[in-house]
Amino acid sequence: MSADDYYDILGIPRNADDKEIKKAYRNLARKYHPDVCKDKGAEEKFKGINEAYSVLSDEQKRAQYDNMGHETFTNASKGSYTGAGGFGGGFSADFSGFGDIFDFFGGGQRRSGPQPGADLLMRIQISLEEAVAGVDRDIEVMHTEPCPACSGTGSETKRLHTCSRCGGSGQMRQAAQSSFGQFIRMMTCNQCGGKGKIPEKVCNVCRGSGHSRVKRKVSVHIPAGIDNGMRLRMEGYGEAGDLGAPSGDLFIEVYVQSHDRFIRNGDNLETIIEISPVQAVLGTSIEIETIDKRHIDLKVPPGIQNNTALKIAGEGMKRRGKPGDLLVRVKIIIPKSISSEQKELYIKLAELEGKSSGSGGFFSGFMGKKKSKK
Ligand SMILES: [Zn+2]
Ligand SMILES: [Zn+2]
Repeated sequence: MSADDYYDILGIPRNADDKEIKKAYRNLARKYHPDVCKDKGAEEKFKGINEAYSVLSDEQKRAQYDNMGHETFTNASKGSYTGAGGFGGGFSADFSGFGDIFDFFGGGQRRSGPQPGADLLMRIQISLEEAVAGVDRDIEVMHTEPCPACSGTGSETKRLHTCSRCGGSGQMRQAAQSSFGQFIRMMTCNQCGGKGKIPEKVCNVCRGSGHSRVKRKVSVHIPAGIDNGMRLRMEGYGEAGDLGAPSGDLFIEVYVQSHDRFIRNGDNLETIIEISPVQAVLGTSIEIETIDKRHIDLKVPPGIQNNTALKIAGEGMKRRGKPGDLLVRVKIIIPKSISSEQKELYIKLAELEGKSSGSGGFFSGFMGKKKSKK
């Protein structure tokens, strides 16, 4: 993985639009495509270009990338296996979805030779509190690994013979007659299943597949600021591949549960407080519990209008650089029933308002008469 900023890799400004991104990508990808460019390091460079494009061409990923910064985004999390074996691999953000990228090079044809393992997808739910602060989770994953008895060869002796039927190609020719004449079909070899090799003595633990299904505990670090639907990638923790081919990746899709007091809006959190008309007129101080359960006194200024949002800086989503804010929306609740003492005071206020409005228009006069009858 390149340590360079994705915008630098593509040589575009940070405010580049989709067209500029696509254009820069196409030019660079053509220049550094391994089939075209034989320079040393071209393949690495090509990978970097694809990676940059896959993120910046996706509106959602680009926003996350801009938000989190290069380092946090690319090392979205770090984890380790607990359990047997020394497994390589690490976390990175999701760079899948190369679909449209390889299209103009002639599509994704199936590679010949040993096939890499399949990717796995797991979904986990976290609370909004955990999304704000980040959280470490142990998850259990069922996947295949190379069979320990035969080291993934499928052969008890760990020796393999070249398949006699296909000569190691994994493919067989089959001649068939039709009304147009004879034609040759290529088929997957039915003796070796396309692998080209046959176990010398079939492993009785994995029955020759070379894989065993195991449950592993995986520690996942979910970074602070993660958003609903984001995926973390654990490279190499998917299904085992054919002998000599890499394992697939494990993707962890994160769902953030909704919260009863806070709503997320980008990097900001929003909450609602209710105050009385008197508090709105005179101003007040309200104790606010932050999402991490600290208490902050919020000053509500006199004369506040309904639905005004007051900002508590830095109490939103925690992410690298500048954290978001907490917006406290003020709802003025009109009491539906009041005591007779309160009513008296409201009547007094109404009378005062009638006087202060000078000669008193139709409305204030009407109010005054109606009140004075009681
Ligand atoms: Zn064969
Ligand atoms: Zn085995």
